[in-house]
Amino acid sequence: MSPGRAAAVTPPQPGGQLEWQNDLYQMACTQFRGVARTLDLDPDQYTRLIEPRRSLIVNLPIRLDSGELVNFTGYRVQHILTMGPTKGGLRFAPDLTLGQCGALAMWMTWKCALLGLPYGGAKGGVRCDPHALSVDEIERITRRYAAEVNPIVGPDEDIPAPDMGTGEREMAWFYDTYSQAARHAVPACVTGKPVALGGTPGRRQATGLGVVFTLEAALESEERPLEEQSFAIQGFGNVGAVVASELHARGARVVGIGDIGGAVSNPAGLDVPAVARWYFEHDTVAGFPGAETIAREELLELSCDVLVPAALEHQITEANAGRLRCRMVAEGANGPTTPVADEILAERGITVLPDILVSGGGVTVSYFEWVQAHQKYVWTESEIRERLRSQMRQALTSVIGTAEQLDVDLRTGALAVAVRRVAETAKLRAVFP
Ligand code: NAD
Repeated sequence: MSPGRAAAVTPPQPGGQLEWQNDLYQMACTQFRGVARTLDLDPDQYTRLIEPRRSLIVNLPIRLDSGELVNFTGYRVQHILTMGPTKGGLRFAPDLTLGQCGALAMWMTWKCALLGLPYGGAKGGVRCDPHALSVDEIERITRRYAAEVNPIVGPDEDIPAPDMGTGEREMAWFYDTYSQAARHAVPACVTGKPVALGGTPGRRQATGLGVVFTLEAALESEERPLEEQSFAIQGFGNVGAVVASELHARGARVVGIGDIGGAVSNPAGLDVPAVARWYFEHDTVAGFPGAETIAREELLELSCDVLVPAALEHQITEANAGRLRCRMVAEGANGPTTPVADEILAERGITVLPDILVSGGGVTVSYFEWVQAHQKYVWTESEIRERLRSQMRQALTSVIGTAEQLDVDLRTGALAVAVRRVAETAKLRAVFP
């Protein structure tokens, strides 16, 4: 047989298809392969889980305010359809790719399974820079995207939520566009909506609060009260700003905060409400007068008890893991630590509380919002807060227990809980046809 013919009939390794030759996707695969080895996962389940079930790429012709017509690329990736509808964020970012959406969708599957939510993972978004667009342009992009992905989303199929570059405003436009097509209001088609449209109180703060609830429980298990610890936080958006405010309100010392424009540090503790006011006026924390302004990369290397990466992926890498000066990393962002950095941190005795656990508060409260939309019944904010706290604590307990039982780090422990649950469901439902 000629080499060309051999290549044509030899299927690529699972996870090795051309579409998924992307750094972030391969990072998610490396983590999955590691846990599959630990669990001695059935090869059929391995093959079913390593690549996303369904991916859609859409082209959005958008009229800019200038009158020019520009094409934007949008994606929606659904990792597994076996667990119920899929769920995951909508990201507007200038470097968004299909591979990134695939990785984030896979992590959503693990996150939902770990937290006991009846969803598979999804992720999507549009490759665009929302900071360079007007509000009208962002609205046109959101609505056209919602119309293009309509065939594969819906309250019982796939339910988007906010992620980087999107928030309540975009969810409101998505909800309206979907409802126009359905010819009646469908509040369960999206979560993270404004409260006035059937959003749930507490959703906006949920991911940040979940980070703090997990930290509170993890530190408690080490007999180190949260309010006596110091924290450095990368990111001052939906997640990071809530983490910083909540920690400050509880009396903890926030010694550093960073964002895309730079970072600030004060070993005595930052006045977080004053930083928030400065951010509101200047669109960055850099230059805040009550602190020293440092380069954004230096934030990660500040001396502190806990570092909270809450901005974006690939931040703690082989290049800087050896220089971190914290005792614990709590991953508020998705995928901030690479597998090689994980090994370096483990050798250095730095505990990593993994993303699929720590950043699970957002999707948990999204689930509460979706349940309320289906029930047409509204819960109180304190009910939501208490349920979230209890769900995060329960998940942490199962992660610590599994990690001890398998003698692995907390990331592998968390993935093991999740992958076992998904693989069991997939096995019971078997392969169609
Ligand atoms: P956001 O867009 O509201 O905020 C992102 C923050 O990161 C901003 O302050 C921005 O300035 C900063 N940032 C961007 N690039 C940076 C860089 N190179 N260096 C330093 N800072 C940088 O986004 P978000 O919703 O807060 O999401 C942050 C992370 O949390 C993402 O990884 C997201 O996937 C994850 N996450 C978000 C949610 C949610 O509910 N919003 C839920 C789970 C996970």
